[in-house]
Amino acid sequence: MNAPIEFIVTASDSGARAGRLKTGHGEIATPTFMPVGTRAAVKAMAPDELWSMGYRLVLANAYHLALRPGAELVREMGGVARFMGFGGATLTDSGGFQAMSLAKINSIDENGIRFQSHLDGAPILLTPESAVEIQEQLGADIMMALDECTPYPAEHRQAQKSLDLTARWAERSFAARRSSSHAIFGIVQGSVFADLRRMSAAQITSIPFDGYAAGGLSVGEPKEAMLEMAALSASMLPADKPRYLMGVGTPSDLLAAIAMGFDMFDCVLPTRNARNGSAFTSQGPVSIKQAVHARDSMPLDPDCQCRTCRTHSRAYLRHLYLSGEILAARALTEHNLHFYASLMRGAQAAIASQNFKAYASKVSAGWSRD
Ligand SMILES: [Zn+2]
Repeated sequence: MNAPIEFIVTASDSGARAGRLKTGHGEIATPTFMPVGTRAAVKAMAPDELWSMGYRLVLANAYHLALRPGAELVREMGGVARFMGFGGATLTDSGGFQAMSLAKINSIDENGIRFQSHLDGAPILLTPESAVEIQEQLGADIMMALDECTPYPAEHRQAQKSLDLTARWAERSFAARRSSSHAIFGIVQGSVFADLRRMSAAQITSIPFDGYAAGGLSVGEPKEAMLEMAALSASMLPADKPRYLMGVGTPSDLLAAIAMGFDMFDCVLPTRNARNGSAFTSQGPVSIKQAVHARDSMPLDPDCQCRTCRTHSRAYLRHLYLSGEILAARALTEHNLHFYASLMRGAQAAIASQNFKAYASKVSAGWSRD
């Protein structure tokens, strides 16, 4: 394989498509959901557990890993996948989002983002070039170009200024690669303005990235605006490259985005909600802390085949959660990630059999409170 990744669309059904993403660390069936392993760990799950659930691609965070333990150390340890002991592929985000959401920003200018580490206050300059260098050291199969994630709400003028900077940073990111073994994706911004989304998509797709992402969504805007901007962004992205919707979302958001033609997703919801005692099930969200589950001998989700649902009752899971047992986080996370993996497998099969709309309405019919 000469290119760092190869993407083949194997079936399409209305706007939705199924495919295969080939990387140097194996092949991923799409549409795919990436569990979030910010600090080279998906919270509460061992890498072999992710593998058993069918996950072949996980997301890690360049900003966090660059600060601790350091990108050079991860490189010495064979890259982030080997460091973790994960047999699949990895995608790293550039760190721009975290630099803005976590750190004390000193300034954003043409050169990059100047900020102070959220760990020890050390001053750091993240540039498009250094973000690529860090991600190459981390050994990511897929790197993300540094962008300015436009905050919400933003004035039209501010959002335009931001996407113009993102476009210039995209050019620099693309030019900064030193190795041909890492793919790089560009990111479309534009906040909730249709004209700016179009402008950003035109700018970013003029650069021959290996894939394209819609960013700056799920940052506080109304759900309808998120879906409208995601659909618009997807329609502007080339059909022969993977399309990645960043940071979205609930099971119903994922089905909507698959129908728009997105192939890749990540979100903290299944893992974070699990640690807060919330499960996604075939019948909608279940809050395990509720008293109604105190004497419930049923599994979390009677339609689920995961280890948690095969082993534990709701009553036991509620007891674990209320007792602060680590097993509560593990059991609920395993169920939620199993649920998301099953949703993606179901979507892949439905698209292959030209049955996606019926599949989406059948599974979402149960999620009354999603
Ligand atoms: Zn389950």
